Amino acid sequence: MSESDLLSRHRAVLPSWLALYYSEPIEIVRAQGRRVVDADGNTYLDFFAGILTNAIGYDIPEISGAIRAQVDTGVLHTSTLYLIRKQVELAERIAGLSGIPDAKVFFTNSGTEANETALMLATQYRRSNQVLALRNSYHGRAFATIGVTGNRGWSASALSPVKVSYVHGGYRYRDAFRGLSDADYVKACVADLRDVLETTTSGDVAALIAEPIQGVGGFTVPPDGLFTAFKEVLDEYGILFISDEVQTGWGRTGEHFWGIGAHGVTPDAMTFAKGLGNGLAIGGVVARAELMDSITAKSISTFGGNPVATAGAKATLDYLLDHDLQGNAAKLGQSLLTGLREIGERHDVVGDVRGKGLMIGVEFVEPGGDPSPAAARAVLEQTRARGLLVGKGGLHDNVIRLAPPMTLTETEAAEALGILDSSIGAI
Ligand code: PMP
Repeated sequence: MSESDLLSRHRAVLPSWLALYYSEPIEIVRAQGRRVVDADGNTYLDFFAGILTNAIGYDIPEISGAIRAQVDTGVLHTSTLYLIRKQVELAERIAGLSGIPDAKVFFTNSGTEANETALMLATQYRRSNQVLALRNSYHGRAFATIGVTGNRGWSASALSPVKVSYVHGGYRYRDAFRGLSDADYVKACVADLRDVLETTTSGDVAALIAEPIQGVGGFTVPPDGLFTAFKEVLDEYGILFISDEVQTGWGRTGEHFWGIGAHGVTPDAMTFAKGLGNGLAIGGVVARAELMDSITAKSISTFGGNPVATAGAKATLDYLLDHDLQGNAAKLGQSLLTGLREIGERHDVVGDVRGKGLMIGVEFVEPGGDPSPAAARAVLEQTRARGLLVGKGGLHDNVIRLAPPMTLTETEAAEALGILDSSIGAI
């Protein structure tokens, strides 16, 4: 009752393009651990975590305590016109964790702003407005970030301050090089990159921006080593490499702390957001000092890296390192992948199961192999009816995305697998 009333008020005053999940959208009013409760009192195991953002889970005393302690000082905000101790400490931690030599950090409020900043840095540093991006990418909702977003469903406008050329390597399951071995796929993508550079640019490109695993694009995973091979070509031209770690950062992929770790290359810049604040609005860029300092005009983010967000982010980072949540993501991610592949073998509607760590995509198909957004929609509803929240995405909106908090337990992973099995069976 209360939710349907809220839905009509939502529709009356919020934009039509602000998509809601479920035929009967829910309002989450309480949460603890990995479980959330809606306004009708239904409890759900949360396997989407506010779009990978509640990285540790809900109501974590260490994180809530750190935020409360900051609130108790009376200082919610000062602006960066004044020293912010926690911002400096957090920047030191992130610079150290980045693996980027001589790194500096700039804090923003979102992933979009982080990527806008990285693109600004790269284009200024290189004095070029040309940028490379991957097909099927998602990098944000502002003009430059929409420009490098290779997914029509999320491209609100073609207006862009950057001139973008798209390369292959994003959505292997359905792209032109589908079916090739890992080595041949990498070779084909590298040849495409060279061709794109030679035919669509003047050579002096500023940067390539890429998600190591595409998030909105449906958790698509390139072969390890793709970006290693790309980096060799980029280095020939002096083109910078920006890794968008908004979804893949902080150990979520299990194997590595940053998604790009799977490729053994050090980017010139990395962008981050989502999981860092465990729900608080914080994002940023970590980049080589020379690149970060290449802007000569003044620039500021009024709220970026504010005392509350940085207090929460520091506590989140401490928690995930102290509890080896990357290790947990690796272990439980593997058991989820194995379980889902076994479920997939029993159901023709499952075309592909892929991912790393706690970033797993299940792609749904029609009998002939065409994308089946209807099946993904049905699974979304069925899992919800059985007490599990999952995400959806992919170019064709036919991929179910699983990305629970990294504190997930074995029992919860087994529970989710059971619900997914019966939900897929039911459709
Ligand atoms: N980059 C990636 C890889 C993302 O997944 C997102 C958000 N889905 C963004 C950037 C934009 O982040 P935000 O929504 O915080 O602006």
